[in-house]
Amino acid sequence: MAPVELLTPTSWSEAALLLQESPETSAVLAGGTDLMSRTFMGKVSPAPRRLVSLRAIPSMGTIWRADDGSLHLHARTTLAQIAADPAVRETYPALHEACTRIGSPQIRARATLVGNVCSASPAADGAVAALCFGGTAEVVDDHSAFDVPLVSFFTGPRTTCLKPGQIVRALRFPPPSPRSGSAFRRVGTRRAMDCAAVILAASVALDAAGRIESAEIALGSVAPTPIRVTEAETRLLGQAPLPAGFAEAARIASATCDPISDIRASAEYRRQVVRGVLPLVLQQAAERAMAAERQGS
Ligand SMILES: Cc1cc2nc3c(=O)[nH]c(=O)nc-3n(C[C@H](O)[C@H](O)[C@H](O)COP(=O)(O)OP(=O)(O)OC[C@H]3O[C@@H](n4cnc5c(N)ncnc54)[C@H](O)[C@@H]3O)c2cc1C
Repeated sequence: MAPVELLTPTSWSEAALLLQESPETSAVLAGGTDLMSRTFMGKVSPAPRRLVSLRAIPSMGTIWRADDGSLHLHARTTLAQIAADPAVRETYPALHEACTRIGSPQIRARATLVGNVCSASPAADGAVAALCFGGTAEVVDDHSAFDVPLVSFFTGPRTTCLKPGQIVRALRFPPPSPRSGSAFRRVGTRRAMDCAAVILAASVALDAAGRIESAEIALGSVAPTPIRVTEAETRLLGQAPLPAGFAEAARIASATCDPISDIRASAEYRRQVVRGVLPLVLQQAAERAMAAERQGS
């Protein structure tokens, strides 16, 4: 492997300028668990010659709540830190579950959620969980900061809307409504250390009458990017949280996703998993929403 330059800027603008100097061969380095392993396997072309580490840039913290109740996760916040946070576990269970399932304890101690999202793998567990909470990426460049909703962040397999010199500074999630719940599941041949054949995450909020006020469904490994299935979400609105409605939403999701056949599963198997498992995920999210309602009342 050719020599690689490791740079540790102390501000976001400095990091952005360094990335812009040689955009083709520079990369942001977070935990490095995706970038370095793929580089060593020859899967990153051209291989990065300049790694811009984020570790020396001061931050407000790793996990924090803004005054409006929104959750902020810094670019350096590891999966292990998120998995260990009691507030994330309580209010964003699907995100907690995804962060406890990725890789191994060693991987989770280094890997970041932002790195998972920016890897833009169709099988990125954390990205799927983040999508089901209406997450937003806070992006910085050398002179400005702006928001990108995660629904518009992914542009293709392993590609994002980020331009050279743009860095995700944090992920932000709106505060969940008091009567909401979420759930996450990954289906594959191995429980860990392998990409899932299908990833499913859902978040459900109920109104005062117990009907579905909002629903977000995100899927991974069934399309070129992690996706939301808005048609299936819309079908649930105003309905009672019952198995028939969840089955219909899953049927729509299964018909609208766009899986491929590969070494992990056939496209048909993936569609069947969406159809069979999504109702269970929605049911669990709704049960958690009902439990949250009881606790709040
Ligand atoms: C053994 C093993 C098992 C794994 N298991 C899983 C698994 O089960 N599920 C799963 O989803 N993934 C898995 N992964 C992949 C990887 O660990 C995760 O995607 C991880 O979350 C990546 O985070 P990182 O901080 O290491 O990112 P890095 O490797 O540092 O970066 C990943 C990509 O994002 C870019 N990037 C990072 N941070 C930023 C930023 N702030 N702004 C802009 N771009 C940025 C980098 O340039 C790079 O292109 C596994 C990897 C290994 C090696």
